[in-house]
Amino acid sequence: MIIEFPGTRGEIEESSAEHKYHSSLIIRYKKTSALIDFGIKYNPQLINKINDFDFILITHTHPDHYIWTLEDENRINIPVYLTRIALDYSKYKPKDYRIIKDSKEYRLKDLKVVAHKVTHSLRCPAVGYKIKGDKTLIYAPDILDFEEDKGVVFKDVDLLIADGSSLNINMVRRKDDRLYGHTRVKTIIGWCKKYNIGRLIVTHCGKQIVTMDKKELAGRLEEYTEGKINVIVAYDGYRMEL
Ligand SMILES: [Zn+2]
Ligand SMILES: [Zn+2]
Repeated sequence: MIIEFPGTRGEIEESSAEHKYHSSLIIRYKKTSALIDFGIKYNPQLINKINDFDFILITHTHPDHYIWTLEDENRINIPVYLTRIALDYSKYKPKDYRIIKDSKEYRLKDLKVVAHKVTHSLRCPAVGYKIKGDKTLIYAPDILDFEEDKGVVFKDVDLLIADGSSLNINMVRRKDDRLYGHTRVKTIIGWCKKYNIGRLIVTHCGKQIVTMDKKELAGRLEEYTEGKINVIVAYDGYRMEL
């Protein structure tokens, strides 16, 4: 399984050479290639070959993940999977949209895909994707927490790719008794330790990570992982074989 990050930037004003484009992920496995998320500031290299992918999965309809919230993008002809609630939220729709139900396993070409509901936005509900080929990964670029039991969601996961909006500052908000926002990388590392996930890739980088000195960032990650988790911060164009 090969994964590639066309973009790694969150919904922020700041940007850098390493985090210029909105976060998305390419997965290639056997004869299947899939893209997760296609936001407003997509990597321009994506658009010419966009219809070569077999399908696109959408985590939620914030514009940094889903261009159709703001623009009528009609050059994309491949299937675009999203939840019903996500589809109904946005003004525009992909040409070939397909509804995906949460917590249900779909076989999409060579990949097995499950959308797991996450706590993130009150108006714009989000999912994280668990994707299985020969290895299993989870992609949750915007997450405060999983709504399901993490013991179940994280079962047999080789790699977690998750939200870098904050390293250690509180980005949790509350309306009435409902929480929303983003968790911290520090907390996500705690999940990896608790549920025995050996590898973490941080994406959807926020202001703190984008502007932090590299050595300081490496030091903090080392401190949080205690050497137990292999963690890296992805950058635009980062590619690895899992
Ligand atoms: Zn986002
Ligand atoms: Zn979001």
